[in-house]
Amino acid sequence: MTDPTLQRLLLKRFALAAGTYTLLIALLWVAYCAGYYHTSFFGVWLTSVAVLFSQGVLSLVFFGGYNYRFKDPSLTEFQVLMGLAWQTFLLAHLDSARGTFLVLYVLVLLFGLFHLPSRVFTRCAVLALLGFTGVNLWDAFADRLADPGLAALQTCALFIVLGWLSMYARFVQGSRQRMRQRRVTLQAHQETLRGMMFQLEELASTDELTNLYNRRHFLRLATRELETMDGSYTGGLALIDLDHFKRVNDLLGHASGDRVLQVFAATASHCLRSDDILARYGGEEFVLLIPRCTRAQLVDCCERVREAFAQVVIPELPGLELSLSIGMTLIERGDDMDRALHSADQALYRAKHHGRNRCHGAWDHVDA
Ligand code: GH3
Ligand code: MG
Ligand code: MG
Repeated sequence: MTDPTLQRLLLKRFALAAGTYTLLIALLWVAYCAGYYHTSFFGVWLTSVAVLFSQGVLSLVFFGGYNYRFKDPSLTEFQVLMGLAWQTFLLAHLDSARGTFLVLYVLVLLFGLFHLPSRVFTRCAVLALLGFTGVNLWDAFADRLADPGLAALQTCALFIVLGWLSMYARFVQGSRQRMRQRRVTLQAHQETLRGMMFQLEELASTDELTNLYNRRHFLRLATRELETMDGSYTGGLALIDLDHFKRVNDLLGHASGDRVLQVFAATASHCLRSDDILARYGGEEFVLLIPRCTRAQLVDCCERVREAFAQVVIPELPGLELSLSIGMTLIERGDDMDRALHSADQALYRAKHHGRNRCHGAWDHVDA
């Protein structure tokens, strides 16, 4: 998978490395022209080409596996080690200008400062120091060292700078580690909060007894539904009221009444599709929204619910005869939800008035 942010980051890093190496080669040529770089003209060319070629090959390897590399910093270590090797090689051909070019060790190591584990970084710094000391010792051994005192001073200065850089690398890595831990903790808190929010939303939108949506949530969903309708179809709205429910409470007790409400919720949900919205409107009254339906489909659906409820047998309440009445209306884009509910309520009133256990549409009144 290509992560564009990661790719951009790596590109910047490589552009920086390429720029640095190009400047280094320019400096090398200046040193050669000024007579500080002791090799042939061909030698300087060869070194310049070799430095650039090695960086090119490294770029290819790097970009070929940059996803893999992100988890494994060993390529960064390799990059730094190669930079240090080139630097030591160049210093070996400089004598009086050696001190001037010494600062480039720091530059090479800076590439690894933020990316290498502190132990690896220290190892690189030690290798740089050993490389420089080795070059000086080799020159001393070959009797080429013009100023041994100056060389010793340069080695000490490099030792102090690299020691300080290693400590700084440890500090940087420690800070990064702490920040990473803090981020993980924050993410965990965020997850917990998200879970709690979800639970709260559920609690705020659900009726405890029937597990259906409550009135407030229904109104929110229904309003949204009305807003998103596109005018090419209608929706159905129905108010459902259990018949003589007070009698159930009075004769069998409130707990039996609660049980009947739960049985209604289960029975009606079973008759509906997943995108139909059924909610407890209040007491023993329920409301149903069918997002896309014709008048005939609405009547079919409501009749299905009515018949299913009339056939319900509750084992703990044997012999209990149940029924419900439904008032229906159609809604379309631009309708007012309060007005639609009022219209369904009027139809429900007529269903009750005509003997209960029936469905009445708002249109029945108009058609009559
Ligand atoms: P109708 O056929 O005209 O609708 O008569 P009804 O008895 O169903 O209507 P009414 O409005 O007279 O009575 C509704 C009853 O529902 C009264 C109230 O105590 C009861 N009720 C409301 N909420 C609950 C509830 O959560 N649990 C129980 N058990 N009863 C409830
Ligand atoms: Mg009732
Ligand atoms: Mg009622």
